Amino acid sequence: SVPMGYFAGIGRASRAGVLVKGGNYLEALCHAEIAVFDKTGTLTRGKFRVVKLAPVSVSDKELLEYAALVESLSSHPVARSIREAWGGSADTTRISEYTELPGKGVRARVDGQSVWAGTRILMEDLGLSVPGDDPGETVVHVAKGGAYLGGVFLRDTLKKDTAEALRALKSAGVRKTVMLTGDREEVAARIGKEAGIDEVVSGLLPIDKVSRIEVLLKETSPGRTLLYAGDGINDAPALRRADVGVAMGALGSDAAMEAADVVIMTDELSSLVSAMKIARSTRRIVQ
Ligand code: ADP
Ligand code: MG
Repeated sequence: SVPMGYFAGIGRASRAGVLVKGGNYLEALCHAEIAVFDKTGTLTRGKFRVVKLAPVSVSDKELLEYAALVESLSSHPVARSIREAWGGSADTTRISEYTELPGKGVRARVDGQSVWAGTRILMEDLGLSVPGDDPGETVVHVAKGGAYLGGVFLRDTLKKDTAEALRALKSAGVRKTVMLTGDREEVAARIGKEAGIDEVVSGLLPIDKVSRIEVLLKETSPGRTLLYAGDGINDAPALRRADVGVAMGALGSDAAMEAADVVIMTDELSSLVSAMKIARSTRRIVQ
């Protein structure tokens, strides 16, 4: 049975903008030792600015248009940002056979021709070579038919409370903070440094994030827990594997809300800190 005090704790947490799906998760929050984060939409705002277009055989405008069209059905933050930068409204009758390639990008037929948008690895899978690029940015590479069309360079920024919230988690007893991302190493290193994260692992496919969590679970002390926070786009399996899965509620996906044990309605990591403090004080009342 769940002690009565937990109901009060769940109520207090929900007033602070954090939905906790059971008293056992309040307890698990109290004992968080390793806190693992997805990058995009969790530590960062998930709103990218297009900083550069590098077309190879088309105009700037065509490159951005192909990117926006092939991304028209994706809910990934990168896709939303590209559509916003393009500014047009996609005629969906031009798009068919849409497929998501988790952690890599998307593919669809646009005007009857195959178009891909995604990572350098996706382009390599297609047998296309990609010119050297700006190491500091997230890049969405675009290909059409058998041809490389160019890269869209994007930049995201930390949420304004991220660094402070991570410091507060450390003072609240979290021993180690980790960032797991599918983005490239240089971008991951920059964001990790700005956030003050202890350990950064980049270039991960969704399945690799789960394997990393398995490794980190082995590093967790007896009686303590591993927390994973993500937006649920490509990371629902990681949310499920952690002792406590925390999803961003506002920007995040329905899949995330379902897979998670705790949902932060405000998308602010400072709310996670509040929930942890509430969990602690509830525990003192329960005991
Ligand atoms: P993250 O760890 O940043 O949440 P994901 O696992 O969602 O990363 O994706 C990893 C990388 O794959 C992204 O950084 C992006 O470069 C690329 N990617 C994922 N989805 C898309 C998409 N819809 N369009 C273009 N690129 C994508
Ligand atoms: Mg993600």
